[in-house]
Amino acid sequence: MTTSHVILGDGIAGSSAAETIREADPDAEVTVITEEGEPLYNRILIKEFAKGKLPEDPIAIHEEEWYDERDIALELNTHVTDVDTDAKVIEAHDGSTYEYDNLLVATGGTPIELPVENSDADGIHHFWTFEDARRIRQHASEAETGVIVGAGLLGIDLAAICGAQGVDADYLMRGNRWWRYALTLDGAEIVHEALRDLGVDLVFESGLDHFEVDEDGHVSGAIDSNGEFHEAEFAAVAVGLDYNTEFLQGTPVELDDGVVVDEHMQTNVEGVYAAGDLTRYHDVILDEGAQNGSWGSAKEQGAVAGANMVADEPVETFRYVPTYSITHFDFPFLSFGHPTIGDDAAERKYDDEEWRRLTFKDGKLIGGVLIGDLSQQSAFKRIIREERPVADQKEALLAPEVDLEALAPSPLER
Ligand SMILES: Cc1cc2nc3c(=O)[nH]c(=O)nc-3n(C[C@H](O)[C@H](O)[C@H](O)COP(=O)(O)OP(=O)(O)OC[C@H]3O[C@@H](n4cnc5c(N)ncnc54)[C@H](O)[C@@H]3O)c2cc1C
Repeated sequence: MTTSHVILGDGIAGSSAAETIREADPDAEVTVITEEGEPLYNRILIKEFAKGKLPEDPIAIHEEEWYDERDIALELNTHVTDVDTDAKVIEAHDGSTYEYDNLLVATGGTPIELPVENSDADGIHHFWTFEDARRIRQHASEAETGVIVGAGLLGIDLAAICGAQGVDADYLMRGNRWWRYALTLDGAEIVHEALRDLGVDLVFESGLDHFEVDEDGHVSGAIDSNGEFHEAEFAAVAVGLDYNTEFLQGTPVELDDGVVVDEHMQTNVEGVYAAGDLTRYHDVILDEGAQNGSWGSAKEQGAVAGANMVADEPVETFRYVPTYSITHFDFPFLSFGHPTIGDDAAERKYDDEEWRRLTFKDGKLIGGVLIGDLSQQSAFKRIIREERPVADQKEALLAPEVDLEALAPSPLER
């Protein structure tokens, strides 16, 4: 009998699952449903498009023909509103229904809109889709002043877009530094200096109180948490994601700020899988539940889910060390693993543009941030994968070149 696999979301997780399923089972029915009006594109590159540094073409990954050639049904502009996991039926906004044997939820997240006055005014942007990037590019190219809210990995993209587009922007941050969950002041200052070089003004110990609008309802500025006014024709907010799981409310699928899955991307409901940003997965290296929002991780989770959906029993396990790089500056920047959690850390500043921080949990390396010199990234990723007990060997790990042979061996090899 032909198995019907329905995939919700045509981001990298959904698309990679569809490709994996098709390769493993030429006869399966595969349907990919997305509310977006275009097939998979490179979400990582839309910031370069918004900066005005890349045209549209290189951002696309798949044309609609890609799906046709693989006999994958692609439903564009289709917003899924309901799933019945007993009847195994999905319903979309227009009343259309899809039956499935196996379901993959890969619907990612939607940027959170801050609950402040005028947060939905014209000229205030949130950044997730290519359509958002088109609006941001157009508006940033016309605006002279701006405000950015959100001191994380997406906020810095928006600040860099303002820099590239010549928008005179104030970047409001809580606390005394950018990405305070992963960086200490020493590392953050390297980033601060680079942002200033792009023309961005950093406003620390701040945050958004509300937006001001002009008589046309267009944003004109922001009042920060200290009562200061920041003029802004352009504003952008990046303070995290709400995971797109509304259609699973009322089903037995376990939700916990995302969809809970095991290391095989399987939920607690048979035949229902999840992959990508919205999963709270069992991380076999950390041996606990984890979340990760990165392209590589979403792609790998999609592939693992796809392989397991086709097989009768789990055949693939998600065992992966994610990375996330920032390319706005003259120096490279990379975070790897889980740099925002842990019970111990070590760091060193090597020079004005070179810094390293490593985080540990239960004696094992679990993540870190490298600024300026990425040459040791493979060594660190290997140490994490091999679960080596290295937390008491910090000097060796902070050496410019890490000697893997000299470190504690992997307990997995014994
Ligand atoms: C501007 C930007 C820059 C980034 N830069 C980097 C980077 O440098 N490095 C890195 O590793 N990661 C980066 N990321 C993060 C990375 O892009 C994501 O982690 C990854 O794309 C997540 O893939 P996904 O398939 O899980 O979800 P998504 O790509 O979000 O795909 C989910 C899809 O599901 C659709 N959908 C949602 N709800 C429904 C519904 N109800 N019905 C139908 N369809 C629905 C959505 O419209 C979307 O198309 C960046 C993200 C952004 C926005």
